[in-house]
Amino acid sequence: MLQELRIINPATEEPVAVVPVTTPAEVDEAVRRAAAAQEKWAALPPGDRARVLRRFAGVVRDHVPALARLELAEAGHPLGNAEWEANNVVDLLEYAAGGVERLTGTQIPVAGGLNITVQEPLGVVAVIAPWNFPMPIAAWGTAPALAAGNAVLLKPAETTPLTALRLAEYALEAGVPEGLFQVLPGEGAVTGNALVGHPGVAKVVFTGSTATGRGIAAKCAAQTKRLTLELGGKSPNIVFADADLERAAAAAPGSFLDNTGQDCCARSRILVQRSVYDRFMELLEPAVKSFVAGDPADPATQMGPLISAAQRERVRSYVPEDAPAAIRGEAPKGKGFWYPATVLEGRPDDRTAVEEIFGPVAVAIPFEDEADAVRLANATDYGLSGSLWTRDVGRALRVSGAVAAGNLSVNSHSSVRYWTPFGGYKQSGLGRELGPGALAAFTETKNIFISTEES
Ligand code: NAD
Repeated sequence: MLQELRIINPATEEPVAVVPVTTPAEVDEAVRRAAAAQEKWAALPPGDRARVLRRFAGVVRDHVPALARLELAEAGHPLGNAEWEANNVVDLLEYAAGGVERLTGTQIPVAGGLNITVQEPLGVVAVIAPWNFPMPIAAWGTAPALAAGNAVLLKPAETTPLTALRLAEYALEAGVPEGLFQVLPGEGAVTGNALVGHPGVAKVVFTGSTATGRGIAAKCAAQTKRLTLELGGKSPNIVFADADLERAAAAAPGSFLDNTGQDCCARSRILVQRSVYDRFMELLEPAVKSFVAGDPADPATQMGPLISAAQRERVRSYVPEDAPAAIRGEAPKGKGFWYPATVLEGRPDDRTAVEEIFGPVAVAIPFEDEADAVRLANATDYGLSGSLWTRDVGRALRVSGAVAAGNLSVNSHSSVRYWTPFGGYKQSGLGRELGPGALAAFTETKNIFISTEES
């Protein structure tokens, strides 16, 4: 077991910070404190809870530049992306705060009395976050869970605990009660495992790899613990012959290179109708090559390094940098975990076309017709997101209906907004986050019948 986490800047390999880990005994103590804080928090009038969360949002807003610099240092995200991520935390907190007074329950007409349903908080919620979007994904779980009256124990990923720790400081500054929101850095197999198995934790929200998610699901099942899983993806970008090919080609690089491809929604399978395949690849090449990789602090940079040496080895295990590729971009040489933008031409059952690589690599595959496109799009265990490009409205609706994925976009690659639901089909997850149902996912529904019979 590690005694501390050594945080490294992935763009320079320089040390950034050393963070002590949370032992299982400390997890136990954190759960106890969280449970005590949660009881008082849940008893507050909704308006008071909402006000505290709005203040929390306000303190985060005041510190967006500082949070963005931390994200840049520990995760290597380009400054513009990191600022967007910090602002996303503000939006998530404000959206959740707006839901507190709207968690109203229902009244259902029945004979002989009054029937009401109420939404009660679960208690202590564990949020286990990954390193690819440390701030937004931490807040996806934390903000609605707090708003619904729960306490949150957030375990950030081993490589990226710094923004989470800073958010906990801002929470206290904003008046979030002591103990209600605690950040517990540590290893997944130790700190994370202790949280998942703790009987005082009512729900686990996990984002990360499908393999780890399955293990956590099994552990939760043993205690019938509530669980939300956001797992991997191998999402298709389907380009039909009738599409605006220039637009589709210009948008494709961002869809698998943003965040250096370390994105569960990355459109890493580019499916192109055979009749326009060569033309599309011609248009794609300059678009990929002009996607700027470099110093994350430079405003012109669009792509930073991979998160760690281990992640780069993982990507290299799929595609060594000298392997033949249809398109290869430039990446800095020297210090830092750099890997160039890469497009392969492949077959649907290639390992690179089937497994989540989690790096700036896409595989282009031709298809014949609409049925073939749908078949290929669905030929994966994953089902998180996908895009399709066509000018035919009927086709857009047919294919959106036929692709088994939780988040689809037509003639765009947008898929994540804090006010619309997000989550995966098949091996990509369980449950949904964000959107109008976000708070309800952190409640139990209780039905109460009150007899009006005279006694
Ligand atoms: P991981 O899924 O193992 O880790 C994600 C989070 O879970 C981290 O906070 C980690 O500490 C924690 N964790 C790990 N084991 C745990 C356990 N037994 N109990 C409780 N918590 C545990 O991912 P990783 O090892 O950081 O990355 C491996 C691969 O996973 C990547 O290469 C990538 O392919 C994939 N990944 C996917 C996503 C995604 O959003 N889909 C995010 C991160 C990683």
